[in-house]
Amino acid sequence: MTETTPVTLSIVVPIYNEEEVIPEFYRRITDVMQQVGVTWELICVNDGSRDRSEELLLALHETDPRIKLVNFSRNFGQMIALTAGLDYADGDAVVVIDVDLQDPPELIAEMLEKWREGHEVVYAVRADRAGESPFKLWTANLFYRLLRRITDVDIPVDTGEFRLMDRRAVLTMRRLREHHRFMRGLSSWVGYRQTGVRYNRSERFAGDTKYPLGRMLRLTMDAITSFSYLPLRLGTYMGFTLAIVSLVGIAITIGLRLSGNNAFYGQATTLVAVLFLGGIQLIFLGILGEYLGRIYDEVKGRPLYIVSRAYGFAGRDDRKPTDLHR
Ligand code: UDP
Ligand code: MG
Repeated sequence: MTETTPVTLSIVVPIYNEEEVIPEFYRRITDVMQQVGVTWELICVNDGSRDRSEELLLALHETDPRIKLVNFSRNFGQMIALTAGLDYADGDAVVVIDVDLQDPPELIAEMLEKWREGHEVVYAVRADRAGESPFKLWTANLFYRLLRRITDVDIPVDTGEFRLMDRRAVLTMRRLREHHRFMRGLSSWVGYRQTGVRYNRSERFAGDTKYPLGRMLRLTMDAITSFSYLPLRLGTYMGFTLAIVSLVGIAITIGLRLSGNNAFYGQATTLVAVLFLGGIQLIFLGILGEYLGRIYDEVKGRPLYIVSRAYGFAGRDDRKPTDLHR
């Protein structure tokens, strides 16, 4: 395939140690696309898998040239893998989907319909989630609502990365090269006509989640710092509040002393107040640090990802990393 046949739909899928689900995913996606009947390509971004994922994907690529593979030099994380997928996608529309079949490929048909009606971003809204622990459900719920309250961007509640984007939105997304990326937030940030389709989220087909609690927390911090200054402002608010409270405290103490009352006599009060304030100050130093570290990452200006090898992008495999990744 040297001459480029125009592709209507690019499907971008990030893959990290997913050997158990790749064959089933391929089967489901080809079934669905058969029915949808548009020209398509599947861009698999192998995010430094250490299992047999690469081998399986290469085999698929060899039998089916619509399957393309971008191999990262190491694990960069799902958000970066999605970014690379968007960079390589050629379609008039791009669908971003998880490989574990929690996002039903069948929904793509409905997304395409909305796209043809003129919507440039069609995101999937989780109506119901099967097979998730109550803890995950509760934290996810809290996360979406908190984010909505404190950010300046209208990020729809209960949406994951599963969505369709028109080429225009994709080209805009490509220009956003920040390092700590909360993709669904960025995809809201770009604007355009957006709409949602509802679906029931199923269980993972096989394998385990690649988002343990620590990673989840990091993503949450990225989401908040990317779209809100509220944590920084909290320091100011709290400072004013404490200053006012202590002014009142001073007045009361002086008053009591003058009237011969020694109610606040002793070191315990002083100690507690100092420790409390020390704690608050350290917390806000930490918050400053979160933002500072992210600024530092931007300043260093490293590429977002490193592709060790790409397959299926005729003539484009040798694109200079710097052209593409910054
Ligand atoms: N993923 C990735 N790199 C990572 C972690 C995850 O490419 O470092 C991919 C993973 O293979 C899957 C998608 O991101 O296709 C979502 O991951 P997962 O299903 O584990 O997340 P969950 O649904 O549990 O939140
Ligand atoms: Mg999943």
